[in-house]
Amino acid sequence: MPDSFTQLEIHMFPCLSDNYGFLLHDKKHNLTATVDTPEVAAIENALAGKNWTLTHILNTHHHWDHAGGNLELKEKTDCVIVGPRADAARIPGIDIQIGEGDVFEFGDHAANIYDTPGHTHGHIVYHFANDHVAFVGDTLFVMGCGRLFEGSPEQMWNSLQKLMLWPDDTIIYCAHEYTQTNARFALTVEPQNQDLMKRALEVNEMRAKGLPTIPSIIGLEKKTNPFLRPTSTNIRNTLNMQSASDVEVFAKTRQLKDKF
Ligand SMILES: [Zn+2]
Repeated sequence: MPDSFTQLEIHMFPCLSDNYGFLLHDKKHNLTATVDTPEVAAIENALAGKNWTLTHILNTHHHWDHAGGNLELKEKTDCVIVGPRADAARIPGIDIQIGEGDVFEFGDHAANIYDTPGHTHGHIVYHFANDHVAFVGDTLFVMGCGRLFEGSPEQMWNSLQKLMLWPDDTIIYCAHEYTQTNARFALTVEPQNQDLMKRALEVNEMRAKGLPTIPSIIGLEKKTNPFLRPTSTNIRNTLNMQSASDVEVFAKTRQLKDKF
């Protein structure tokens, strides 16, 4: 790392009913990005509170609670909008199209871009490897994953496996506070997972105090998130799918969660 390397500042704040907003700030270059645009007023308040000026929007996918504020913010700030090439037509105001294998340079901080289709066709995630942080939109949640609105189980399982290759200490910022429900569901498919039981209790305590459960860490997700654990004997026994493929177990888990 160069001597001049400065920490990527991250400011997280609630938006809408259960979304989170994120501001990223590179102090040296005076750059500020919002990851997605769930709610313009909440983003503007967060910017004012930090005395930061918006320079970039980094979109993960086209859903209204992620890209709905793009045009208003661009009109007000003349910021640059970065988003998935595979869904460029559905990202309002997109200036820079990126996808799998690209590196997006944000001042001193570089994000490796991954295509993660499944929740939507053109979902991308941003992995700032040197900063040990990733912004995963609606691909991965704490003990959950995004619903398969536009993709197949095969696509989503393939997408999630990309995230599982990141170092275990990678900090994961996901876009919704769905954790308590996810933990309750996870316990129905993997009731004997000790790490999961412990974590479900911790999550309930955090929520009782009004604390966010985000960010998470990929190493902990690999131990407790049923959507990353189709190899688990406990899950396979619960679903009576002992000899099924990983993607079949993943697909069944996702189906059950949709009905939960
Ligand atoms: Zn979404």
